[in-house]
Amino acid sequence: MHIYDDEVFRMACEQFRVIANYLNIDKNDRDRLMFPKRAMAVTLPVHMDDGTTETFQGYRVQHHLTLGPTKGGTRFAPNLSMGETAALAMWMSWKCALNHLPYGGAKGGVACDVTKLSTRELERVSRRYMQEMIPFVGPKTDIMGPDMGTNEQVMAWFMDTYSMHQGYAVNEIVTGKPVSVGGTEGRREATGRGVVYLIERAMDMLKMNPEKSTAIVQGFGNVGSVAALSLGLKSGVKVVGISDHTAALYNPNGIDVKAAEQHVRKKGNLRAFDEGDRIGAKEFLELPCDILAPCAIDRVINESNAGKIKCRILAEGANGPTSPEADKILEKRGEEVFVIPDILCNAGGVIVSYFEWVQGLQAFMWSETEVTDKLFRILEHSFIQVIRRAKRDNIPHRTAAMAIGVERVIQAKHTRGLFP
Ligand code: NAD
Repeated sequence: MHIYDDEVFRMACEQFRVIANYLNIDKNDRDRLMFPKRAMAVTLPVHMDDGTTETFQGYRVQHHLTLGPTKGGTRFAPNLSMGETAALAMWMSWKCALNHLPYGGAKGGVACDVTKLSTRELERVSRRYMQEMIPFVGPKTDIMGPDMGTNEQVMAWFMDTYSMHQGYAVNEIVTGKPVSVGGTEGRREATGRGVVYLIERAMDMLKMNPEKSTAIVQGFGNVGSVAALSLGLKSGVKVVGISDHTAALYNPNGIDVKAAEQHVRKKGNLRAFDEGDRIGAKEFLELPCDILAPCAIDRVINESNAGKIKCRILAEGANGPTSPEADKILEKRGEEVFVIPDILCNAGGVIVSYFEWVQGLQAFMWSETEVTDKLFRILEHSFIQVIRRAKRDNIPHRTAAMAIGVERVIQAKHTRGLFP
């Protein structure tokens, strides 16, 4: 029993165990690689609009510091726990290493329901969280970014709170900021665009015609909405299903994703969007399609539905959408489902965050075209490495991707040695 004990952390550990066995990692190195270096839990008392004071729990986990500062998103979600935060931090470590970014993984967040907070309350929660984190984060120690439930505005409040404390503008303390305060052109779209770049590469490899292909996207937030829009408008794929936490919609003739995006911008969710049939959340993932992109929460592909999903490409926009039990089922299905594993598929976000951090440190700016070109170059390299490794060793794509990441971290640990 340890402070991280939780279902999502157990899942990340189980995935790590598979990799450790495959790489034959010495037992003396396993816990050292797996357990986070540091974890902080903070209590955030916040004035609510009705005059009461509510107390929220906040977390930050820094997984390893071997390759540079830690980097990771900030999640505002009702049931966030230390264990889930630690699992997300561990995945970030393998993701950064796979994509050759000079970071360890981190993750943080606050257990709160953003849909129940006013804008002023959200600002107070965000500022108080950053205030409590000031002793533990910094541009050379730990850099925050957005994740579920947070956005550019929250990042601007984080940056402002940290900067007020330092006495000057420190925009490299967070990434995913608005462009007006040192954010990078194309960061907001980076994760979804990266997902679609990799889907296009997979379609190309599998000789699929995008114009004759269909897609279902779960989650219509930052990642899901950009991925759905880009699939529909840029790749020419017909998006037949979209969903969020309020509704799942299916239309075999195609959904007007642009209209859906405008609707969500105005109303906040898909509840009242009336294009297509309303489907149960469970059946939604089992509908026939060529591309299934889970872009919301973890473990939605699990042992109950892994045998039933009918896609050719599973593009994991979310972190941890497929459980280890589901992985075993997908492995048995062989070539039927081409998995683009999360640490590759959604890496666009952290890659462009890295650009934003570098630009902040150097007081430098790149254009959106330059940013997107550099992003695709890194993704291309990682994609090829993962596919080659999977073929060479006849292993699933997830094993290949994670193994490349874990190997880089362990090599760096061995080279640096164990202090003291
Ligand atoms: P977001 O808060 O912008 O959007 C989340 C979306 O998921 C919303 O549309 C929400 O309604 C929907 N959702 C929540 N619960 C759901 C459920 N049970 N069923 C269906 N839909 C549900 O979050 P985001 O930034 O788009 O992140 C989504 C996922 O992508 C997360 O797993 C996150 O860790 C991962 N991710 C995000 C980034 C990024 O840059 N934002 C980068 C890498 C990975």
